[in-house]
Amino acid sequence: MRALVVSLHDVSPLTRERCERIVEDLAALGAVRLSLLVIPDHHGRGRVGEDAALCGWLRARAAEGHEIVTHGYFHRRARRGQESLVQKFTTRVYTAGEGEFYDLDSGEAAELISRGNAELRELGLDPRGFIAPAWLLSVGAEKALRDLGCEYTTRLRTVSDLRTGEECETQSLCWSVRAGWRRAVSLAWNAVLNSRLEEADLLRISVHPPDIEHGAIWRQIRSFITDAMRTREGMTYLDWITRSREHPRAS
Ligand SMILES: [Zn+2]
Repeated sequence: MRALVVSLHDVSPLTRERCERIVEDLAALGAVRLSLLVIPDHHGRGRVGEDAALCGWLRARAAEGHEIVTHGYFHRRARRGQESLVQKFTTRVYTAGEGEFYDLDSGEAAELISRGNAELRELGLDPRGFIAPAWLLSVGAEKALRDLGCEYTTRLRTVSDLRTGEECETQSLCWSVRAGWRRAVSLAWNAVLNSRLEEADLLRISVHPPDIEHGAIWRQIRSFITDAMRTREGMTYLDWITRSREHPRAS
């Protein structure tokens, strides 16, 4: 059976209330195994360990079968001097300054990844995958993930098994809600992408906390998930990676 992975990005003390509503709403559609992408210290002012309610909620969701994934550390990229136009466009316009792992070297990346994983493990969580903010992962950061024994990572267009080297090409649906024109473009683009991916082994739907506040966006996300659940098995990224290892041709 083909697969559906729904991921919820940017789970943190700053987004907890919306994340709770989203997980509850999607569970009502039958999506009960999500990949929850947790930011260890959101913008330096949202440490997961300091929010007891969030810690309890995450442990309860993990016990239900949801997956906890480490998602950056601060989820904010420090600006560097002497940036090229391409670097400026990618890091400021495309991601609004959130591409934390866009150009880290392997040492810098390893330090942040291990710190984040260790903090989540201290809370009784067990992150096995890592997904960079805005899916921007430098070559050095990917090397750091392999060295640290991370199971997998994803980018906008791929899911990579870091143990076997297998890479599945399938572009994630995701919505941009920062402005009215972005919402209109997102609705049209995701409709095209969703139908283009009808035959794909893996359909990826990436949800962000603000999505639930925009009626048309949220209705589209719900309808895509509802439709996909008729022909696909809902699972986490880790489930998908595990299944791909057991049945290599399925990937
Ligand atoms: Zn993010």
